[in-house]
Amino acid sequence: MKDEACIFCKIAGGEIPSATLYEDEDFRVILDLGPASKGHALILPKEHYADLCALDDKIASKALGLAARIGAAMKKSLDCDGFNLVQNNGRAAGQTVFHFHIHVIPRYEGGPDIVSWTPGNASGEELAQLAETIKTAL
Ligand code: AMP
Ligand code: ZN
Repeated sequence: MKDEACIFCKIAGGEIPSATLYEDEDFRVILDLGPASKGHALILPKEHYADLCALDDKIASKALGLAARIGAAMKKSLDCDGFNLVQNNGRAAGQTVFHFHIHVIPRYEGGPDIVSWTPGNASGEELAQLAETIKTAL
C-alpha cells in the first residue's frame, strides 16, 4: 500500500527524484538531504509502513541485510571507519517522516560527532523489575 500524502512513498516510487544509490523491487536507498555525515543514506521500503511496528517480517529481515550491505559499501567506497544504523519510531523518538526508514550514517575518525546518551545508573533489582514489566506485553 502507498500513502498518497507521504513524501517517502513518492521518493521510493521514483515520483520525486532523489540521489539513489540502490534500488530493487522492495527498496530504494537514497542520500539524506540533511546529512549527519558525508554519505548519510536512508533505506526506504517501496510500500508504506508507518514505523517498525507496522513492518512485515519479510521486509524487516531484508532491510537489516540491506543495511549491512550499504554499510559495507560505505566502508569500501567512502573510507569511513564505521557506521551507525538509526531507526526512529514515534515523534518522541525523533521520527519526523512517518514512513519506516533506516538511517545508515557513515562515521569518520575525528568527527563529525553524533549526539549520543549519557549512561545513567540502574540497580539489578530495577532492571529485573523493568524486564518483568516489558515481558508482560510481549
Ligand atoms: P526521521 O527524523 O528519522 O524521521 O528522519 C527523516 C530524515 O529524512 C531526516 O534525516 C531528513 O533530513 C530526511 N529527509 C526529509 N525529506 C527528505 C527528502 N525529500 N529527501 C531526502 N531526505 C529527506
Ligand atoms: Zn509512505
